[in-house]
Amino acid sequence: NSSNKNMIKNKDFKIIKNLLPKHKRKNPPSLNENIAFGAIPTNHMLICDYLPRKGGWQTPEIIPYKTFSMTPNSVVFHYGQTIFEGLKAYRSESNDKEIFLFRPDKNAARMALSATRMGMIPFPEDLFVHCIKELVKVEKDWILPSPGALYIRPSMIPLDKGVSYRASETYRFFIILSPSKSYFSTETGIAVYIERNLSRAAIGGSGEAKCGGNYASALLPMRTAKEKGAEQVLWLDSNEHKYVEEAGAMNVMFVYKNKIVTPALNGSILHGITRMSVLEIAKVLGYEVEEKRIEISQILSDAKSGKLTEMFACGTAAVISPITCLIDKDEKIIINNEKIGDISLHIKKNLIGIQAGTIKDTYGWRFPI
Ligand code: PMP
Repeated sequence: NSSNKNMIKNKDFKIIKNLLPKHKRKNPPSLNENIAFGAIPTNHMLICDYLPRKGGWQTPEIIPYKTFSMTPNSVVFHYGQTIFEGLKAYRSESNDKEIFLFRPDKNAARMALSATRMGMIPFPEDLFVHCIKELVKVEKDWILPSPGALYIRPSMIPLDKGVSYRASETYRFFIILSPSKSYFSTETGIAVYIERNLSRAAIGGSGEAKCGGNYASALLPMRTAKEKGAEQVLWLDSNEHKYVEEAGAMNVMFVYKNKIVTPALNGSILHGITRMSVLEIAKVLGYEVEEKRIEISQILSDAKSGKLTEMFACGTAAVISPITCLIDKDEKIIINNEKIGDISLHIKKNLIGIQAGTIKDTYGWRFPI
């Protein structure tokens, strides 16, 4: 439909918009519909190709959601050169016209880091934020009210064809969206299974990159965790299998009375944006914060003695996930009598408050749209 094809210009960025006519759109789901995380795409997506023969990054386009067609010898099917990001757009709880993103500049920077590590071309960071804003504006009706949101999935794949092993020269950056309900369907904590043999990432490997392969190699341990009765895997370092790294696709924090301790970023841990936000919020709320190497044997003995008062995982999707049970081989170790701790709740309340606009954002983390 060329009649509603128009160019927009903002700063130096151009985006071509080719929007569906109003009557052709499907409607956002209602809040009481049972929607699985990430299952329903919105009406539009954004794509931007990198074509060096045409001068590099092309003008981004917002277009109706569509399939990609690729030949079987496309690089994307063979060598795992795929990266992605995950963030959310929120609707203010007090004024539903007010919508914003949470620290998208950090996702932009992490995606550039992922691209570099995977031998890909980094997408310009300021254009990344601009593209998200423009796409979310088009799909703003799909942002579910708090505690819901709109999940944003920027992604990048190679476009080259031919199965010779090499980095692709052409790429496609794209963004898709899906309405997201709150992850907190239960008020109980989760159990994590300590994976003592397989690891998620190694120093010098790709753990700091948000690349598809990291998630594929985590699926088998995830199945073991489920069989053992846990929701997530607790990852240890790949070298000595001695130090805690992450919990599933989340970073992990330990609470000792008024102190919050988390594994220091060591080259194999993903730089979580929730992690860095929690650490800053915790300091402002008056907690002591420490980033260091943490031995799993210490955690187990502190959990058993009661010295470890709380444990939680944090990430964009679930925000704060209290962990109340550790499963080690066939042994179960309960934390805080399986109760969700006050400090986990305090941090969660403050973080969600900033995201939902009920707490003043003194940090400059909210990017209005
Ligand atoms: N670790 C891993 C392995 C992840 O996939 C994620 C989710 N991106 C996180 C931690 C948490 O990162 P963030 O807070 O940026 O969502």
